[in-house]
Amino acid sequence: MARPDILNPLFASVSTVKGVGPQLSKLMATFFGAPENQDAILLDVLMHMPSGIIDRRQQPGVQFAQPGTVSTFLLHIDRHIPPPRSNNRLPYRIEAHDESGEIAISYFAGRASWLEKTLPVGEKRYVSGLVTFYHGIPQLNHPDYIVAEDKFDELPLVEPVYPLTQGLTSKKLQLATQHALAKLPIVPEWIAQSRLEANGWPSFNKAMRDTHDPQTPADAKIEGAARARLAYDEYFAGQLTLQLVRATMTRESGVKRVLTGDISKKVIAALPFELTNGQNQAVADIEDDLRSNRKMARLVQGDVGSGKTVVALLAMAAMAEAGHQSALMAPTEILATQHFATIASIGEKAGLKVALLTGKMPAGERRSIQTQIETGEIDIVVGTHALFQSSVVFKSLGLTVVDEQHRFGVHQRLALSEKGRKTELLVMTATPIPRTLVLTHFGDMDVSLLKEKPAGRQPIDTAILSAGEYDRVIARLKAKVDEGAQAFWVCPLVEESENLDLVSAEDRHKALRQVFGDRVGLVHGRMKADEKQLVMEQFQRNELSILVATTVIEVGVDVPNATIMIIEHAERFGLSQLHQLRGRVGRGDQRSACLLLHGDKLTEMAQARLKTIRSTEDGFEIAEKDLELRGQGDLLGTRQSGMPGFRIAIPDFHKDLLELAHDDAVHLLEQNPGLQGSEGEAARTLLYLFRKDLAIPLIRAG
Ligand code: ADP
Ligand code: MG
Repeated sequence: MARPDILNPLFASVSTVKGVGPQLSKLMATFFGAPENQDAILLDVLMHMPSGIIDRRQQPGVQFAQPGTVSTFLLHIDRHIPPPRSNNRLPYRIEAHDESGEIAISYFAGRASWLEKTLPVGEKRYVSGLVTFYHGIPQLNHPDYIVAEDKFDELPLVEPVYPLTQGLTSKKLQLATQHALAKLPIVPEWIAQSRLEANGWPSFNKAMRDTHDPQTPADAKIEGAARARLAYDEYFAGQLTLQLVRATMTRESGVKRVLTGDISKKVIAALPFELTNGQNQAVADIEDDLRSNRKMARLVQGDVGSGKTVVALLAMAAMAEAGHQSALMAPTEILATQHFATIASIGEKAGLKVALLTGKMPAGERRSIQTQIETGEIDIVVGTHALFQSSVVFKSLGLTVVDEQHRFGVHQRLALSEKGRKTELLVMTATPIPRTLVLTHFGDMDVSLLKEKPAGRQPIDTAILSAGEYDRVIARLKAKVDEGAQAFWVCPLVEESENLDLVSAEDRHKALRQVFGDRVGLVHGRMKADEKQLVMEQFQRNELSILVATTVIEVGVDVPNATIMIIEHAERFGLSQLHQLRGRVGRGDQRSACLLLHGDKLTEMAQARLKTIRSTEDGFEIAEKDLELRGQGDLLGTRQSGMPGFRIAIPDFHKDLLELAHDDAVHLLEQNPGLQGSEGEAARTLLYLFRKDLAIPLIRAG
């Protein structure tokens, strides 16, 4: 189903805007998170929401000018006073007045020729900017706008302000935004008229105009009707997508599985520990799902270290009892290998045949495993997304387990749905996602929570240190390593970036080698899978004392003997990421420590974030706090960390809209699963606008 033609103008590259050159266009692609190798498009610009507004309607007259307010004056220009040649660090001053008093306009390093033309002596100009006071005289420092008396209309009286990035000025962005607004079509309405009226919501087109070209501050207020409507749209598009994905996965009605309990019993007997209550409950939930005639779509949500792998293993054991195969998909090769090791060692004691399949395996080995999958000799396959390539044919796949660890997005789930469509689905996530976000991220999957940690876990001592205390850190680390401890040392980037103050993992590796010799290893995302694997194994076998790593270790690595986690530039990581990283230690019965090293200048926000990590190990609490701290500010950060990123909706303001959007999406697809007629066309348009068109092929035909 092709994109509606009316939307085409919005899919034009930003480089079609006059004044946006190749360099800026590239910058915008990165800034707006355009797909790799693609340009940012006009739609991206429209979806970039203002963070506030400047109101220039105040025209108080010079005498009543308030410091710190943005105001507009009609000024008579009296005199230019260039700085003395001897001291050109003084500003270029221009004296002016209106009938109520005198005011100065000042420019540092102002160009005389330009200023004489812009503010000619003896003439009147509208000047708008931030009022300050200098020696008791009101002053406008580098005013934002100057227009002739008859050009008052050109002043943007109510002006949105946008989050920007280095190299993208607000003038350039405004230019692109205005251009995009001019191309904005009238789109069919996907919200019921009654709802629009009840909420006082404008149409999509009007809402975009109010937001980007407000006539009054109320038009563009974050709490206002236009923004609320757009937030609802964003949620609704997301919920529709999730519902479509979900429907695809659970469309076929389930099979009532007959579970004998034989294999599960053997698995439990082979475990070196007792299951926690949460694990028992989750397994019971899963078994109920499997026995019922509803297809399972269950999320096992549990903090790092809560023991999700065993739950997955028991689910797969149950499926084997019912006579079918299971596939466990992990987000990385390292993790797949590790899961395989755990699952094979226990599973095989219970008579299960377990295999590993990854993209990087030698072709011969791979083929032989594929054959065994095809003949049904193998009960459980663990692997990466390579599992779902078309060359892999299962004899009878009954259960798909996805170890999500918030790495898989909807895209991967769609790929999986091709093969996994007929199977039961179990997703494991370590992300302690607050309630409202479960809904956004996963739609309405059933949830089993693993609340408590396995018994015998020691608390982790977390300390915050500045990078300046590096020597102390090394001394402490040396003492511990000499006693046989193992440590992770995490750095944010692989290669030295333009930001010279960021230490890369490679540099840190070199530096630590000088102290600790060859007991220091390095893994990072750019290494080949087998190289990574080798280093990880050395660390697991305690042949390495220190493992320097980028965040590749974030997901699920289990080395119980590692008791020290050092995170460099901790302020650059998201809270949940720090929590995940810290969860790599404290897995054995020894006391563990986590050192958060930060750069010199910490913002208040960064301090608050690090303190949150120090104050609690409860992932749920951290996630809630994260949301609270982050508010609306860090939308891009949100997206990078793999959490569902919203460009428009702000959870704090628009919480209720999410529920509404969810219910509406469910209702719409129940009533009109094929999204037909004008109502369906409107909904499809919405999906395209929010770039959820991947979901379009999932709309049920006919
Ligand atoms: P995660 O939920 O982070 O994936 P894992 O499944 O990797 O956690 O389990 C973390 C560690 O806890 C593993 O070493 C595992 O063997 C151990 N573990 C799991 N369940 C229990 C339990 N009930 N009692 C003790 N240890 C457990
Ligand atoms: Mg895990």
